[in-house]
This record gives sequence, C-alpha cells and structure tokens, in this order.
Amino acid sequence: MKVLVINCGSSSVKYQLLDMHSDDDFVLMAKGIVEKIGLPEGVLTHKPSGKTPVEKKLYIPDHKVGMKLVLDALVDPEHGVISSFEEIEAVGHRIVQGADFFNGSVLVDEDVMDKIELCCDFAPLHNPAHILGIRAMQAVLPAVPQVVTFDTAFHQTMEPKAYMYALPYEYYEKYRVRRYGAHGTSHQYVSQRGAKLAGLDLANSRIITCHIGNGSSITAIRNGKCVDTSMGFTPLEGMIMGTRCGCIDANILPYLMKKENLTPDQMTDIMNKKSGFIGLGGKTSDMRDTVALAAGGDERAQLVIDKVKHDIVKLVGGYIAEMGGVDLIIFTAGIAENNAWLRRDVSKAFEFLGVKIDDAANDAARYEEAIISAPSSSIKVAMIPTNEELVIARDTMHIAQNLK
Ligand code: ADP
Repeated sequence: MKVLVINCGSSSVKYQLLDMHSDDDFVLMAKGIVEKIGLPEGVLTHKPSGKTPVEKKLYIPDHKVGMKLVLDALVDPEHGVISSFEEIEAVGHRIVQGADFFNGSVLVDEDVMDKIELCCDFAPLHNPAHILGIRAMQAVLPAVPQVVTFDTAFHQTMEPKAYMYALPYEYYEKYRVRRYGAHGTSHQYVSQRGAKLAGLDLANSRIITCHIGNGSSITAIRNGKCVDTSMGFTPLEGMIMGTRCGCIDANILPYLMKKENLTPDQMTDIMNKKSGFIGLGGKTSDMRDTVALAAGGDERAQLVIDKVKHDIVKLVGGYIAEMGGVDLIIFTAGIAENNAWLRRDVSKAFEFLGVKIDDAANDAARYEEAIISAPSSSIKVAMIPTNEELVIARDTMHIAQNLK
C-alpha cells in the first residue's frame, strides 16, 4: 500500500511516500519538503529514491498549492515515482497536539477535525497548520482516506500524579491545563526498536528515551507505556532547547513582564523563540555551530553545552528513580544521533550505577541503530535514529486496510 506521510508546518510541508508491504517491510519511494509557503520565493525540494533530486523555486501562495506541487512532483515523468495520484491509497498526517481527546491514530472525519481545532490553543504554531494541510489534501485527493497521528497520543498513559500541575484544580477542569508531552511518536518508535536491539521484552522493561534535537524531550517508559515525560502543557517545558528555555521558575514571567513592559504574547515569543541555545549562548540555535563556537573558546557556547548535559542528566536521573531502575537508555534525534560526546558524557554521569560506554562503538554510531554500552555495563545504552514517518505510515496503513 502506497502511503503519503505529511508533516505540515505553518510555512512548510515535509512529505514521504512509502510503499508499505508490512510494518517492517517497506520502501521509501520519495521524500521532500515545500518551504516558504506564502513568501515571495517558495522552494520545493524533491528527492525521489534512485533518481536525481530536483529543486524548484516558485511562488507558493498557500498549502493547497503546496500539496498540489508535492503530488505533481510524485507523478512527474522525469522525477516522479508513481504514474498517477490513484496509486496513493492513504495519507497520514502528523499532528502535534491531540490533548486528551486522542490516545492513538484515527481516521479523519468532521468530529476529529473539530477536536484538532479545539487543540489549537495548546499548539498555536502547529495545529492550525496541520488543519490547513488536511483540508488541502482533502481538496486535492478527495477520495483518499486521511489519517492523523498525534505527538501526544503515546503520553496518554501517564498517571495523574505525573500529568497534573499543582495549580487550582478548576484550571484543569475548565481549560484542560495538564501535561500532554510531545515527540510521542518518536519515543514510542525508538523504545520499540531499542528493546528489540537490546534483547529486552518490551512488556517487561524500563526504558528512558532521550529525544535531543532542535526540540528535546525525555520520556520514562515502563512495560512499553509512557509513565512520565519532560515536555508539558506545551512543548516548552523540560530541558534547554534550540530556542526554548525549558523549565524556569514561573515567577520569572510576571517579574520580567513588569520590568520590561512585555505583553503575554511577547513573553511567549521570548520563551519559545529567543531563549535556549540562542538566548543563553547569544549566537546560534544550532548545536553544530554551538560546538564550533565552544571549540573556539566561546564561554557562553560552552555554557550551553554544559547546560544541555546537565538538564539531560537531571531528567534521566529522576526517571531512573521514578521507575525504580532502568534497563535501557536510548539517545535519538539530530543532536543525540550526531554527537558521540553528548552520549558519552551523559552516560558517564551514571557510572556510579554501573553504566559503562564502549567508546569505539559510541564513536562509530552514526545513521545506524547501535548498542553503545560495554557488555559489562549494568544498564544498556543505545543510539536509535528516530523515524516518526514510519510510525505514521504504519498506523495509516492499518486504519486504511480496515476500511476495505
Ligand atoms: P528537529 O527538532 O527540528 O527535528 P533535529 O532532530 O533535526 O531537529 O535536530 C537538529 C539539531 O541537530 C541541530 O541543533 C543540529 O545542529 C544538530 N545536528 C544535526 N546534524 C548534526 C551533525 N552532523 N553534527 C552535529 N549536530 C548535528
């Protein structure tokens, strides 16, 4: 079954076309990204498997035009990978926020759309764009089933003591203020792959997954189910990130707002877009650049690196205690997949529990799943490249197959 996976942002659409034979037997036919929707010069970058990639620069006024461009690229005689739209049997969309409405992927209908709309308040940068993406795809492929997969769904198994904030209870009842988490699809995928690789029975395991990318979150998973996660009501909570501050004392907000005469929207913008690596380091939100700056003697870049490691250690340590131990620690996403020093230094902090890294295995771990702990390590440690698109494609395939 050919499944098109769509990850729609406010000005971009990432896509992958996968030919799914079964959960683990699939072919990535093409992937790409449409960027700068609504700006004077939009870009489509299309990468068909086994063919030359193509880049087109043109004005892309809205998401509907963006989706049409994606489909046209897929059927293009030169760069395409299918001969007609009819070959696409289902479309799976990534949705950042499903709140407590959804604990798994579902087929899109108007009730589902209403609920995604209700969640816009909790993910104002993401959910409105997802809605645009679904509507655009419905317009260009009206007969094809559309499925939605939520970043929050995997975290719905948390107990109230993990997801409730100690605010007046009425705010939970009136406004659904609680921890929802994010990156759930990634945490779920890498925990399943990691358990297999480490020879663990997922149903009888304690795993901590560290998704460290531009956005970062850490999750405690007992017996395959999420028991706690570091992101909260929104993807701002938890550790330091590229542009997000992570956990701070909430009293800082009114204090700064008064001192600097800031509106709530300005304060939100500062915490989400001007903090983290860029805020603390002052020069870049990118880890590669931060590493280069630190190597050149930039003390604030070094502080960013030290804080990243400090925050991860603190969260992982807390989750080890919460689960009464851990069998496997997994590193994934852009920063953790590509920086052996981060995996080594974080793991070193748990030497007192008997963690031992195999330096050669850790240094060599790149692009491929790998166990990076030494055989004598009390806790296994792994690097697992994440693949959220595959989870979306699998769920979409299962739901679409059930319609037949
Ligand atoms: P997103 O949350 O946007 O999906 P990613 O998981 O792609 O983010 O992670 C982006 C981060 O990963 C950036 O800070 C980037 O510098 C870092 N990164 C990506 N590739 C490398 C690399 N080869 N070496 C070092 N850092 C990298």
